[in-house]
Amino acid sequence: MTKNLHPIFDRSLSKSEKESLLHQNGCVLWMTGLSGSGKSTIAIGLERRLHDEGILTRLLDGDNMRTGLNSNLGFSHEDREENIRRVAETAKLFIECGVVTICSFVSPTISIRKMARDIIGSENFCEVFVSASFDTCAKRDVKGLYRKALKGEIKDFTGLDAPFEPSEKPFITINTEKEDVTASVNKLFEAVLPLLR
Ligand code: ADP
Repeated sequence: MTKNLHPIFDRSLSKSEKESLLHQNGCVLWMTGLSGSGKSTIAIGLERRLHDEGILTRLLDGDNMRTGLNSNLGFSHEDREENIRRVAETAKLFIECGVVTICSFVSPTISIRKMARDIIGSENFCEVFVSASFDTCAKRDVKGLYRKALKGEIKDFTGLDAPFEPSEKPFITINTEKEDVTASVNKLFEAVLPLLR
């Protein structure tokens, strides 16, 4: 399939040249966790803090990816995998431009996150586990999905009839049951800032 392609990556400007222009390191902050665990809330808060610090960022989440590039994908195992593959390839394009790319995706299994890490490259991949129990997320029910799923109206719902495997060795775990939004954002900001400059 790729036989007649002639990539120009070896001749185009390098990642490090772009990074020195921006005075930052292009890397991916990959947020994983159950729906409602707090990924997007923290990602939005973090992006604002990093922006105020003079760091160029890009936020990728289920909403902007699934309504655009990935609008033809559903939630079967294959489609979830394809969703994350395209997200990872997109994130890679951003980090090659030196942009700090915050990815907020349930990305429920160890193997799906490994695929993202393999595409992006381990050295540029920072896994953030946003942790909250199924019951807490169901109580928050930000998007009303848990109510529907518990009534049987959504199938393959993560944590119910589709698996969620917690991060094994995350760079950092943010426990959103134990701290409020401000504390979570601050903790993550302090932890990642040294990686970005
Ligand atoms: P996700 O993106 O993981 O689906 P959301 O960010 O959309 O989750 O929703 C998380 C909900 O949990 C929000 O209503 C938010 O206010 C609440 N919440 C409570 N504590 C925290 C915290 N420490 N960090 C992030 N969100 C929290």
